[in-house]
Amino acid sequence: MSQLQQIDMDTNNPPQRWAVVGGGMMGMTVAHRLAQAGQQVTLLEAAPELGGLTSAWNLGSVVWDRYYHVTLLSDSNLRGLLEEIGLEKELKWVETKTGFYANGRLYSMSNALEFLNFPPLRLLEKFRLGGTIFAASKMQNWKRLESIPVDEWLERWSGKGTFQKIWLPLLKAKLGDAYQKTSAAFIWAHINRMYKARRTGHKKEMFGYVPGGYARILDRLAEVLRDEGVEIVCDAAVQVAERTSTGEVDVQLKDGSRRAYDRVVFTIPSPHIAAACPQLSVDERRKLQSIEYLGIVCASMLLKKPISEYYVTNITDTWVPLTAVIEMSTIVDPAELGGHSLVYLPKYLAPGDETFHLSDDAIKERFLSTLEKMYSHFSREDVVAMQVARTRNVMAIPTLNYSERLPGMVTSVPGIFTVNSSHILKGNLNVNETIEVAEDAVRDVLLPALNEVSRETASAEPRPALPC
Ligand SMILES: Cc1cc2nc3c(=O)[nH]c(=O)nc-3n(C[C@H](O)[C@H](O)[C@H](O)COP(=O)(O)OP(=O)(O)OC[C@H]3O[C@@H](n4cnc5c(N)ncnc54)[C@H](O)[C@@H]3O)c2cc1C
Repeated sequence: MSQLQQIDMDTNNPPQRWAVVGGGMMGMTVAHRLAQAGQQVTLLEAAPELGGLTSAWNLGSVVWDRYYHVTLLSDSNLRGLLEEIGLEKELKWVETKTGFYANGRLYSMSNALEFLNFPPLRLLEKFRLGGTIFAASKMQNWKRLESIPVDEWLERWSGKGTFQKIWLPLLKAKLGDAYQKTSAAFIWAHINRMYKARRTGHKKEMFGYVPGGYARILDRLAEVLRDEGVEIVCDAAVQVAERTSTGEVDVQLKDGSRRAYDRVVFTIPSPHIAAACPQLSVDERRKLQSIEYLGIVCASMLLKKPISEYYVTNITDTWVPLTAVIEMSTIVDPAELGGHSLVYLPKYLAPGDETFHLSDDAIKERFLSTLEKMYSHFSREDVVAMQVARTRNVMAIPTLNYSERLPGMVTSVPGIFTVNSSHILKGNLNVNETIEVAEDAVRDVLLPALNEVSRETASAEPRPALPC
């Protein structure tokens, strides 16, 4: 069912002028659904192109995602959106393999037999690991897990040995020291996503992508938005949004220009919303600023030949300064990549980590020398192209009792709303959850709010529409 069919709103309301701030998948979906509901929408994106974390770049002769992205069979919201824009049938599904780098060796961990043969764990430890994953997949009450520290919960279920050998290094690789304040809801969401993906018919791990990568999805989605009448403005960094005495929201851009809207929806990271909205209450700003984010430094490499057969290689050796090794070309047809292998080297970090100050060359050197130590067959001579991407605010950390401290989407400033990935509560950061939050917000919060205000202002003089 399309979102529009689900929306039960007062159709007598005249369309309102909306600005959606942030042209990532969240902002694009919000803009799409608002436009479908007959609203007049402008999408304001700070970067020269749309897509945010899903945006593409040129790596040597290849155009592909700046950060790695795959779709799961269970990603029903994303697949629904792709269907609407005519791309779902193009999805290519590929069976993938998983590797584990532990104690200086690379192991395959792609099926039950390999798991049973995995040398770093004793048999009992393996059963406890399997039992933990199974138990998490059966748990429904994620809210209860929010009050339990993730390390405590994992050690309780898996035992000390498995926790020390597997979970702790994996937690540190993904969250750094922030694992100490992360709740068990984080690992629950992670396990559930992978478990659901395997439950959808095939017992194997199948990942999908649209040929052309997210560049193709973003181009097509932007085309659909334009056809729906959405005005897309790139290079438009919003600095301040303030409600004026006439009831409009005055939006000031970095280039000094100003625009007026009836409603503004921020989809950008929470600390940036706090900075852009001086009229928010002290408490709202404090809550927005206290949402802690993880950032990422991620190198992309085109190689003459593959490094491994694994899409993801998890790493438990703590000397390795990488969260994982992601070999995208185990999924994407090499013909799309100029016959090369495409490998991503991500490291999730606190936004204030000193690595963000390093030059691209220093990061490349750190990562290349790491690969040389990890893989005896790897040679930097095989690197055809290499680039470093970095973003400081990627993922809100699900800290203890996170959902109780999360500010709502309706702010105290009439006409200003916040709908961003910090509102993902029952999952980890991915496009499917992002779309779900966007669609729920439009249906349950943004459009119903129109009815509220239209009742309050029913007798007010109509205001002339301002040109954009
Ligand atoms: C390394 C990595 C791997 C991932 N892998 C997967 C995967 O395999 N599968 C999957 O489904 N998901 C994956 N994701 C997650 C996915 O990328 C995100 O869920 C999604 O892109 C979030 O979209 P968003 O719009 O919420 O945020 P963003 O993409 O961050 O968009 C926010 C936008 O706001 C803009 N902006 C910021 N400030 C301003 C301002 N002041 N004015 C105007 N615009 C502004 C930014 O430029 C940006 O375009 C991955 C993410 C990363 C980082």
